[in-house]
Amino acid sequence: MAQVPGPIRAGLIFRVGFTDESLVNHGITHLVEHLALVGLGQQPYRFGGKVEGLRTVFMAEGTDIEVPTFFRHIVATLASLPVDRLQHQAGILRTEAATRQVSPSAVALADRFGTRGWGLVAAQEFGLVSVTADQLQEWSRRWFTADNAVLFMTGSLPERLELELQSGSRMPVPPAEPLPYQMPAWAHHRVPGVGISMICHDSVEAGVLAGVLGRRAMNRLRFVEGLSYEVTAELKRLDLDLHHLFLWADGLVEKLGAVRSDLLEVIDQLADEGATPEELKTENDTLRKNLGDPNFAVHQLDLAATDDLLGRPFPGFDRRLSEIEAMDGKSVGRVLQESVETALSIVPDSVSMLDPRFTPLPNWSTDQVSGREYRLRLPGNDMRAKLNRLVLGDAGITRTLGPGKSVTVHFRDCALANIWNDESWSLIGADGWRLHINPADWKDGSQISETLERHIPAEIRVAMGDRPVPDPESLVVGPPQKAASGAFFSPRRDSWWLLVFIIVSVRLWYVFDPNPFRSGVNPTASFLSGMI
Ligand SMILES: [Zn+2]
Repeated sequence: MAQVPGPIRAGLIFRVGFTDESLVNHGITHLVEHLALVGLGQQPYRFGGKVEGLRTVFMAEGTDIEVPTFFRHIVATLASLPVDRLQHQAGILRTEAATRQVSPSAVALADRFGTRGWGLVAAQEFGLVSVTADQLQEWSRRWFTADNAVLFMTGSLPERLELELQSGSRMPVPPAEPLPYQMPAWAHHRVPGVGISMICHDSVEAGVLAGVLGRRAMNRLRFVEGLSYEVTAELKRLDLDLHHLFLWADGLVEKLGAVRSDLLEVIDQLADEGATPEELKTENDTLRKNLGDPNFAVHQLDLAATDDLLGRPFPGFDRRLSEIEAMDGKSVGRVLQESVETALSIVPDSVSMLDPRFTPLPNWSTDQVSGREYRLRLPGNDMRAKLNRLVLGDAGITRTLGPGKSVTVHFRDCALANIWNDESWSLIGADGWRLHINPADWKDGSQISETLERHIPAEIRVAMGDRPVPDPESLVVGPPQKAASGAFFSPRRDSWWLLVFIIVSVRLWYVFDPNPFRSGVNPTASFLSGMI
């Protein structure tokens, strides 16, 4: 509770987010959130809901009658979800997904985490297709409970505010587990700038680092060099310890090589020298100014409530101020030195990464399974028949598209199997690799169907309906290929599914930022923004 002028602002937060989902049911939390709001229609007060990585939030802004009414509605619908509206809401969510863009930071997270945990930020919500009414109710009963929730509110406590949530248990924060790639690394993506993603541990220094890094990069790239318009450094909590530090600068295509070099120089210099006393003072002054704003209390409440929900002590801003005052700028540099070891740079196709510290992420799978080999149902002299090969064993499946180009999905790591009406399969591995297999394309294809049926568990299968016509992934129909190419199949990072995948808006993530004011975002102005 806090005394803040204006209408009551309140948030009911549950410790469940998309990192608690799997690729198969991804979107189920989002569905529950939408269904809980069904029946409210339009109201004379502001309200909304949103699903983030670690939490789901319902918020309202209104009078001491309106706000309790809103929360009573949420609690009542959560107890008995209007599942008859499931298809209707799933349609709305698909529309919502189609209009959202994958942010560069989400692209980097998907590279790092594949199709689990934080990688789902860039993944298609397959749960909108796969989830049943029973599964939705079960999800709501398990996660949306009194013991897994926290409520914050400004103003005076309304006389009667009883929210009858079912009991359950406080859910732990899932650890963020990146894929075992060698870092620092880089990857090509269709992004309009250069991004450098890093992982760092929870600390006051990390918050200061993000602020200083953002200011230095903005100064160099925009104000001195005139290369970029948007320059940002965001810090986002991934679990109880790890944070994602993402530095981004946009630019014209012909300038992006210079943008890349400048960003790396800014990083290296700060890692080497640490933050100056003036930079530490700027961080402190900015925080002090925010604390003087009565509306900032809402943001403080939100952070304190969230920390409580995550099971960590809320250090408070007074303590942070004194810690920044006592800070040695060198320690900020040391945090950055450690973070650079985990760096993943994403650059558009036009830009190369020449820095020898960075190795490219693999464009193809690095291992293959052994087993029975299959050839395409084509004459032996057809180029496609010469290049394409499928090996299917008990451990998984490898498709080879030419020398050095193969994609493997191990059954034990298969995150999702889409099954289409033509009996073809799209398998997606935990590392994000995707393989489309139509048994009809291959000689002895019935054996392929049998083996897949045997090894793919029912719980990861999702029926997808008809294939598009013409089918872009058909291997034996259409003009013969002249040479090996990705035309029939795209490797992971260029694959269509990643491009159409949706994300949960990055605009929402500042809420988890332990130092959210550094980027110039006014958290009070954004209290209800971006709710979906
Ligand atoms: Zn939504």
